[in-house]
Amino acid sequence: MSMHLKQLLSSAILRDLAGAASFRRGEEYAADGHVTGLAVDGDRISARVLGTDEYRVGVWVASGALEYDCTCPVGRDGDFCKHCVAVGLVWLAEESPDGAGSRRRKPGAPRVVSMEEIRSFLGRQDRATLVDLLVDHAMEDEGLLDRLVLRAAREAVGGPDLARFRAVIERSLYTGEFVDYDSAGGYAGRIADTLEEIPLLLGEGHADAVVELTEYALGQVETAIGYVDDSDGHLGGILERIQEIHLEACTKAPPEPVSLARRLFAVELRSEYGAFHGAAATYATLLGSTGLAEYRRLAEEEWRKLPALGPGADDAQRWGRRFRLTQMMEVLARLGGDLEELVAIKSRDLSHPYAFLQVAELYRDAGDHDRALEWAERGLAAFPARPDGRLRQFLAQEYHRRGCNDEAMQLIWSDFLGVPRLDRYQLLKEHASRVGAWPSWRERAQSVLRSGPTQETSRPLPDSWRAAAGRAELVRVLLWEKEVEAAWREASGGGCPEDLWLELARLREADHPEDALGVYQRQVEAMVSRTGRTAYEGAIQLLRRVRKVMRRLGREEDYRQYLAQLRERHRRKRSFLGMLDAARLA
Ligand SMILES: [Zn+2]
Repeated sequence: MSMHLKQLLSSAILRDLAGAASFRRGEEYAADGHVTGLAVDGDRISARVLGTDEYRVGVWVASGALEYDCTCPVGRDGDFCKHCVAVGLVWLAEESPDGAGSRRRKPGAPRVVSMEEIRSFLGRQDRATLVDLLVDHAMEDEGLLDRLVLRAAREAVGGPDLARFRAVIERSLYTGEFVDYDSAGGYAGRIADTLEEIPLLLGEGHADAVVELTEYALGQVETAIGYVDDSDGHLGGILERIQEIHLEACTKAPPEPVSLARRLFAVELRSEYGAFHGAAATYATLLGSTGLAEYRRLAEEEWRKLPALGPGADDAQRWGRRFRLTQMMEVLARLGGDLEELVAIKSRDLSHPYAFLQVAELYRDAGDHDRALEWAERGLAAFPARPDGRLRQFLAQEYHRRGCNDEAMQLIWSDFLGVPRLDRYQLLKEHASRVGAWPSWRERAQSVLRSGPTQETSRPLPDSWRAAAGRAELVRVLLWEKEVEAAWREASGGGCPEDLWLELARLREADHPEDALGVYQRQVEAMVSRTGRTAYEGAIQLLRRVRKVMRRLGREEDYRQYLAQLRERHRRKRSFLGMLDAARLA
């Protein structure tokens, strides 16, 4: 059974979709008459909502589910906004005038236009009148005009008028000087509407025309992207859609493979937006052996021109042309299933440690552990000043695998010393536990953490940073081990940042309320001194805990005195005192 608006829209569903706060504001909008021009056509509602600005809202049913759309910032992020709520409620009120949605409705609220009436009116008109009506409208609406032009071009005598198609594509992509963020969504929406006219040609036996038009559109869109603030990726989505249509058209009417290979190669090599990325694989069957051979010939020709990069070398084209060519060559090698070819491609750029790791992983995955080890060791040796943690971990795994546990532990230990942090500590534990030696390694690691980050490590830190951090990592490690008392002792002995003090206080509040109180009061003082709304809010939250703990200890009188002294100390901070009054903490 297909679902209709009536089943999919209710006050409760609107509240679920929007959340309580948006729902309440939507209710107010509906009641205050912000919704106008509400039109209903079957299971589709459209309306205009006057809020901070003027927004268009659409709510409709597609594939049995409720869909919605609003031009406001919240709606553009895909959320069900208060405007959608307002439109839904007005529709509900009109649908069932005695229902819940109508309670707050004021007289004079908008009437729903039923498109049924309009359809029946249009049905009674003669063709000339309808044509006039559409033409009048198209003269004022460029989107409609474009669609009509393209529909006419599709039915041109002698086959589709591709020149006309190209002209409309070019016009709809025209950016002027620049399309800013606020206009990008509307701009892309109009292009998307225009482009959807292209695949309609597929059903009419013009797949070859679709191939030509999509390749043209692709180039045009890529050029336009440079003149659009496309932070939301609208145009990226359009590029993807064009490629989908292209592949579908090529499948329907396979183009001549050699020429297809040349076009795919040219776009893929040039495109900074990933157009036809991985074409050799995506189009493999369409290209066949002749097409792939041509693609490979072109790729190898360019590939030979790339300089090989050794450790530390750089290439300005690394993330541009070089990156794309490398990807193309890798796809070809993977298609052929040739491991040595793939390794040769990766070895062309050994400028960073990760490259060695990638080759090592290829060999490991192929079961060749000797080569894997050799590459990982080479990588570590090639970058003595800039060792890569992932490479060390890979090597440690391989050493364990061979039973060389001392070598493995040595690597993981250097890794920990390089960055003595909780995550490396966890890794150390993992490896040490494998060889049953955790207790002694744990002691060593904790002593490094206790003596501060500069002792045995390779990265000296500024004194101020060290002072503020105190024994932060050791406290974190002990909290991770659920050694709360030990963590408290380390914090008391060497200090730690605020967030950890609070965590410690909370964990120990039940058994050590006096300790917790000390921490809370110290933090309250620090937060109030920092000034600013956020800090004050934090302080007030903590004061609630202070009150709770002091009440539990039967120290109500102390609490009153503490609060009075706090107010006195900060008597100039009016906004803090105001917030304190509002919070009723007395
Ligand atoms: Zn909205």
